[in-house]
Formats: sequence, C-alpha cells, structure tokens
Amino acid sequence: MNYQNNLAFATALDEQDELKGFSKQFLVPQHNGQDVIYLCGNSLGLQPVTAQQYVLDQFANWKNLGIEGFFEGDDPWLGYHKKLIGTLADLAGAKKEEITIMNSLTVNLHLLMVSFYKPTSKRYKIIMEGGAFPSDQYAFASQARFHGYDPKETIIEIFPREGEAILRTEDILKTIIDNADELALVLFGGVNYFTGQFYDIEAITKAAHQVGAFAGFDLAHAAGNVLLKLHEWDVDFAAWCSYKYMNSGPGGISGIFVHEKHFNNQSLSRFEGWWGYREDKRFLMTHDFEPEIGAAGWQLSTSPVMLLTLHKAALDIFQQAGGLKPLRLKSELLTGYLEFLIEEINKTKGDEVFKIITPKNKNERGCQLSIVCKANARKTFDFLTSKGVIGDWREPNVIRLSPVPLYNKFKQVFSAAAILADSLQEN
Ligand SMILES: *Cc1c(COP(=O)(O)O)cnc(C)c1O
Repeated sequence: MNYQNNLAFATALDEQDELKGFSKQFLVPQHNGQDVIYLCGNSLGLQPVTAQQYVLDQFANWKNLGIEGFFEGDDPWLGYHKKLIGTLADLAGAKKEEITIMNSLTVNLHLLMVSFYKPTSKRYKIIMEGGAFPSDQYAFASQARFHGYDPKETIIEIFPREGEAILRTEDILKTIIDNADELALVLFGGVNYFTGQFYDIEAITKAAHQVGAFAGFDLAHAAGNVLLKLHEWDVDFAAWCSYKYMNSGPGGISGIFVHEKHFNNQSLSRFEGWWGYREDKRFLMTHDFEPEIGAAGWQLSTSPVMLLTLHKAALDIFQQAGGLKPLRLKSELLTGYLEFLIEEINKTKGDEVFKIITPKNKNERGCQLSIVCKANARKTFDFLTSKGVIGDWREPNVIRLSPVPLYNKFKQVFSAAAILADSLQEN
C-alpha cells in the first residue's frame, strides 16, 4: 500500500473499509463531549454495546428461574460456555475440545503448570522471554520455589542482544538447544506486551519438543489480535485473558488450550474440581474423579455466568465480522498506516524523534506499535491524553499505541499521528 499523509486519503480508506460498521458496536469514552481516539485495546478493549443487555438477560433468568436457570431458559447456564467455544476455537486455531473457558489468566497459568511443569533433578529449567509481563515472572518463579528449586538457577530469561529491542528467533532456539538436557518447559509469550513482537510460536514449539521439553504460551496480547494455529503448531498448552483484544470486560474470564494429544495422557497430573468432571455424570456426585475428555477436564468450579455473558457479547461480534482473517487484513493496513505516519514525522525532523521498536515485518507483530520518545516522553504522552488520544505509558520512555480493527478508523490513526507531531511544538 502506498500510503499518503493527508486526511482525504485516510477518509477514503475508511470508506472502502468493509468492517467500518463495527465501530458502532462499541461504546467509546468521552473527552470534551467527543469520542476519544482509543488506541489502548492492548490493555483493555472497549465495551460492546450489547454487553449490558446480555448481562440483563441473565439477571432476568436468575430472577425468574432461580436454580432452574442452570437447566431452563433460552441459554441454560450449565451449557452456556459451549456457545462460545466455536468462535474461540477459530480464534485460537484449535479444535473445540482443545478449548475451555475458566478462571483468570494467571490462575490458569498456574493450573497448567501443575500439569506441564513437573521438574526432576535433571530436567527442571524453564525458558521464558526476558522482561515478561510481571505476573508471569512471579507465577513462574513461585512455581519453581513450590517444587523446591531456586528460581535464579531454574528460570532462564532471554533478552534482546545489546543495542537491539526485539528478540531474534535464532537466539531463542539456540537457548533451547543449549539447555537441552535440563529443560523442562518453554513458557513464552505470544505477543510481547512491551515491544509488540509476535514470536514464532511454531519454531519455538518445535525446538522445545526436539529437546524433550513442553511448550506453552501466554497469549494475553495475541488472542483476538493475531492469527493463531495452536493445534497445527503442536503447542502443548496456552492461556489468555479476554479483556484485552477480546473486549470482554475488566478482569474478564480466561481461556485455555490443551492439545488433544494430551487428552489421554495419564501421567499429566492436574488439580481437580467438579466442573471438570464428566458432564453427563457430574450430578451423580460420585466419589472418584472422572475427567471430561478434553480441555474441559481442567475446569474446577461452577462457570461464572455473568462473565461468560460479557465474553459472548464480544465473541459474537468477532463472529459477525467473519473471524480474525478479515480483521487481521485490516489490522495490517491500520497499524501500517500509523507506522507510515510516524516515520513521516521522523523524516520531517531528520531524526528518530519517535523510534518504533516493534518489528517492521507485519508477520512479527499485531496491532500494537511501541514508540520510544527521544525526548520529553512523559510530556508527549500527557499531551496525547489531553487531546483525547488514549494510548498507554511504559516506563521509562515508551508509548504504546494499538489501533484495533474492530473499532478504530484510519481517520483516527491520522489524527493521532497529527497530534503526536503537534506535541513536538508544545514540548
Ligand atoms: C495482561 C497480562 C496478564 C494479566 O493476567 P491476569 O491474571 O489477567 O491479571 C498476564 N500476563 C500477560 C503476558 C499479560 O499481558
């Protein structure tokens, strides 16, 4: 695409956009009586207009049916989650049985590590991305300690090379090979929260398997953002949250993937609860645990129906949009346009005043661009906010902007970049 740095061009792109109608399905925060330019879907996606009604419908069922709501009404609670699985499986590139919805992300990472991190004195190491989202660091370190290992000797973080911002796949693969005999688990991000780098999940998984380790992924920033083929890539397990690119509300329910090759693996231990019991016999309340076949066997507790309704409201929109493929095509154009406009600013200044550290290759990133401000970083961010552009801030000098194909427009990207350029005059 030959982009142009003018409003008419941005407007034309919006007119041609087959997904343009979807922005009306979201509620946008206001700034001085106008919609903000919301580029923060990487942290918290916007509220679907329908979300409130979906919850109200279940409040009505609760009021009118009481306990019978589990079995009666339009959407009996007992099987409510099943209506979401198809769309989620498509987003994850998985078979339906490989997916379930439960708990929150960090909780699920712990539960999956119960199954897939079983260190022995020979094989105990975990490889992860350096500077991962803090919750992952805490979770993995505490798992190591729980098993009696010192996190310092157990967890290997991979950092970019000196002077570089993103990880090279070759360095990840080499670290896996270098630790071949001692490696128990590679537990990586899908898309890095700080840089927006989309890792080569297939290659990482293959390397882990070659040395006899499991490969799991935290897909918080990947789910609903980039195309995933978890089944085909042979990933062992994954988990994600639903409140970032999946727009399912703050603290929304999490999803997990377990590859079908593990369904009959008796050597995998797991924590058990009645919601993971065979559904056809769950209410017989027998003594011995018989798991549901598939990822559903990892469930512990009664599904939180109100959270599921929010998730369904959001996933129904993904389905109406035709799944992630068309969204991804728009996303590449939209993020590419933001990148182009930022590079235009740099050209005008003859300097990298806004250095983009996210990979240039569209196959190695999703919606997000991470921008290092050469000077006055915090002031620049505050200026954007004061003009109604909502991104997010990471110490010490990074602004993350994520145009989201479901609800952002090319015109908004144009305006955001123009305001970014204006900030140079102000600061
Ligand atoms: C957002 C995010 C989390 C958040 O976990 P919660 O348990 O939902 O609070 C964890 N890990 C990563 C990589 C994230 O981006």
